[in-house]
Amino acid sequence: MDLKTVIGLEIHVQLKTKSKMFCGCDNNAEEAQPNTLVCPVCLGLPGALPVANRQAIEWTVLAGLAFNCQIAETSKFDRKHYFYPDLPKGYQISQYDKPFCLGGSLEIISGNETKKINFRRIHLEEDAGKLIHVDNASLVDLNRAGTPLMEIVTEPEISSPQEAKIFLQELRSIMRYLNISDADMEKGHLRCDANISIEIGGKEGVPTEIKNINSFRMLERALIFEEKRQKEVLETGEKIIKETRGWNDSKGETYSQRSKEQAQDYRYFPEPDLPPFQVHKVFEVEKLKEKLPELPAEKRKRYQGMGLKAEDAAILVLDKQISAYFEKISKSVDVKLAANWIINELKLDGVLVITPENMIALLQLIENNTISGKIAKDVLAQMIESGKSAQEIVESKGLKQVGDEGELNEIINKIITQNPKPFEDLKNGKTQALGFLVGQIMRETKGQADPEKVNKILEERIDK
Ligand code: ZN
Ligand code: MN
Repeated sequence: MDLKTVIGLEIHVQLKTKSKMFCGCDNNAEEAQPNTLVCPVCLGLPGALPVANRQAIEWTVLAGLAFNCQIAETSKFDRKHYFYPDLPKGYQISQYDKPFCLGGSLEIISGNETKKINFRRIHLEEDAGKLIHVDNASLVDLNRAGTPLMEIVTEPEISSPQEAKIFLQELRSIMRYLNISDADMEKGHLRCDANISIEIGGKEGVPTEIKNINSFRMLERALIFEEKRQKEVLETGEKIIKETRGWNDSKGETYSQRSKEQAQDYRYFPEPDLPPFQVHKVFEVEKLKEKLPELPAEKRKRYQGMGLKAEDAAILVLDKQISAYFEKISKSVDVKLAANWIINELKLDGVLVITPENMIALLQLIENNTISGKIAKDVLAQMIESGKSAQEIVESKGLKQVGDEGELNEIINKIITQNPKPFEDLKNGKTQALGFLVGQIMRETKGQADPEKVNKILEERIDK
């Protein structure tokens, strides 16, 4: 059987506006006491009238521009009806058939491949409140009710759980570049529902949906499990049931929750308290476009132009702070050296510990052959531990590379005298002996010999 995994994502991004989506209540509910940031509008009291948050709409349009969406001429809000204790109105104000943004796409680097994932739409809606379960009671906190949520819906074009994770990471970084959301998954600023199906021989499969994914790890694990489960079901000739499935983190399994609701179940209708919105009359969309910062994809291309591999460029641009660090360092040292050390030695997080100036000083010691790359790794570890600069450590510990030809010659003579057999072998063309001798020399100099020079001198000796 020719089985192909097909994944689509629906992502909710909490916008960091000052006030909520349809009222003036404070939108920063994280540290507030329950039910203190509420008013008649977000409590859903009868007769209270919503007023749309201009900033939230502007940011949604801005996101649309970042993803090359088509910005709607007219847009409107709709009521999406369902019952839940954290939704006092009995409906959520969302958007149905006229979202602010249509189409659009996001480019990701998956392995060595650049891939474009198309979007269906981006719309704006309000969040519900929160239920807190204690002992045998459930409490309702409505601080979060009415928080602006931007919902991004992709086409089902993601082809593996790993790719889904890369996509969501890229999306998170764009939200941060645009400065419209903290996009922190742990804090619920970024939440995701994933639908997954298996196509058989080009024939569309039946999707299941995993809801409320709140970490990258969960996204990948839940999809890997569901992909395997569906393939196993199909291989036995059974059918997949269209349903919503939950994720049990401790068991590492998805489980059946309920059959999937259809759009008609929500009885959508236009929100009568908010008039339709002429987007291009309210915002100068072309001017907004000028506000867009350099986004990760463009930055990645620029870094590739500087000589970096696509994969390395992709890692460096994910975080604004890391890319700023890279740019500072690469002004003073070789770009590839800078990228390599940030990714593999600082392991990205290290940029918070070592100042760019100190990192430049360390890498310059490698570039001017004062220390070898190997010693530099030890120096870096000591820099992290002691907070001292690279020069201080190299001076105080006498780590300077032995590059003086006279000194090196002397050491090489000693090693050759001690190891006549390998030296003979080397002369007779046995190249393994070279590694052995270089190893002995490095040991003698505690790794401080300049390997290039050692090789050069040894080669000269053989020619004699
Ligand atoms: Zn309110
Ligand atoms: Mn939604």
